Amino acid sequence: MLHFIFLVTRDDLDTRTGEYQYIQLLSEFYKKWIHDTFSKDIEVQCDQMLVQKQSILRRIDTATLLEDHRKRGQETFHFYLCNFRPLWTDCTCEGYHAENFGMIYWQKPKNQNDISFMAQKNCTAVSHELSHEFLRQKKFKKHAELVHDVWSKHIFGDLPFVQYGKNFEPTTKDPYFMTIDTTDMKVIV
Ligand SMILES: [Zn+2]
Repeated sequence: MLHFIFLVTRDDLDTRTGEYQYIQLLSEFYKKWIHDTFSKDIEVQCDQMLVQKQSILRRIDTATLLEDHRKRGQETFHFYLCNFRPLWTDCTCEGYHAENFGMIYWQKPKNQNDISFMAQKNCTAVSHELSHEFLRQKKFKKHAELVHDVWSKHIFGDLPFVQYGKNFEPTTKDPYFMTIDTTDMKVIV
């Protein structure tokens, strides 16, 4: 089971429904993407988690989420879409992963209907962390190097992110979802 959890503050709950609708669709998309890329069938679930606004006195961090993951059950892969950046990470995106655990800093679009922004900024980072974890589960030791090598080509080179439409099929225009290029990963799995 892969469980996506969107962290949202009570004040924001009503104004971020566009993002949550997108996340629900994104969860279904990744079920197919994981099947197609890593030959793994996995159930997906998606929820919101109410959190306090980040302040100096009350601050959620990666350790809080790891504890939440432990309490919910470590046999489920929990993936947190967060309102804060991980303080420490080996990753070259604003995300972090551990065994059956993933998180990214979810960037809030100025406009709730800005699918293109969420696809480019958030969806891509999710694919980055999922790649680490599924390659790790396939016992591929150099997953960190491989994922970061491809990621650099996306960010600093001319390798485009892979684009998918609302129907989850590859597309060349108006992408709904964008992911890391997995050509080199498919060779391994
Ligand atoms: Zn990484």
